[in-house]
Amino acid sequence: MPNYECPTCKKTIAVDKKEDAPFRPFCTKRCKMIDLGRWLDGTYTITEEANPPQFSRDPDNPDPSSI
Ligand SMILES: [Zn+2]
Repeated sequence: MPNYECPTCKKTIAVDKKEDAPFRPFCTKRCKMIDLGRWLDGTYTITEEANPPQFSRDPDNPDPSSI
């Protein structure tokens, strides 16, 4: 199992087996909760997938769901 980097604290974690990394990709439960908190606070921006092209605004047909 390769080493991995905790997305929260950027610390490199070395693990020999899966059981050694219960909070992967985070190093600890604390880092996992910090990351979750960022999501809930809106720190992370919504991806473009949340606004697919087929729902783009059309001046002639402002409500795509009415088609
Ligand atoms: Zn961490």
